[in-house]
Amino acid sequence: MTSQTPSDCLFCKIVAGEIPSDRVAESERSIAFRDISPAAPVHVLVVPRRHEPTVGALAAASGDDLTDVFLLAARVAEQEGVSDAHRMIVNTGSGAGQTVFHAHVHVLAGAAFTEGRMV
Ligand code: 5GP
Ligand code: ZN
Repeated sequence: MTSQTPSDCLFCKIVAGEIPSDRVAESERSIAFRDISPAAPVHVLVVPRRHEPTVGALAAASGDDLTDVFLLAARVAEQEGVSDAHRMIVNTGSGAGQTVFHAHVHVLAGAAFTEGRMV
């Protein structure tokens, strides 16, 4: 598993506001912002403020942070009007397409569902 220190982590920089993002929601423990390269009409990333490389590592480190990521993801789906038709996707490991090694959940919804399975 690739590991990065928070100082060279893209999502830590987005959490800190050092790199701009289109933020759509936030909580004490997590932030949500639009993916820079959307794979669906709604494509939001939900990211814990705490740096852990994977969702599994986040679960081991803090159940509260893990829960909060999914609560915020559900709030984003509601805000976007897709609470009854969305996917929450987690890629783990480069072999499965993870490119940023700071835990995150993709919230996806929209036209892609009519084109078949996304995963
Ligand atoms: P992964 O492939 O690790 O599951 O997801 C990483 C996601 O981060 C990708 O969908 C990619 O488009 C998105 N991403 C990469 N760099 C940036 C960035 O600078 N800003 C935003 N908003 N999204 C990014
Ligand atoms: Zn990070």
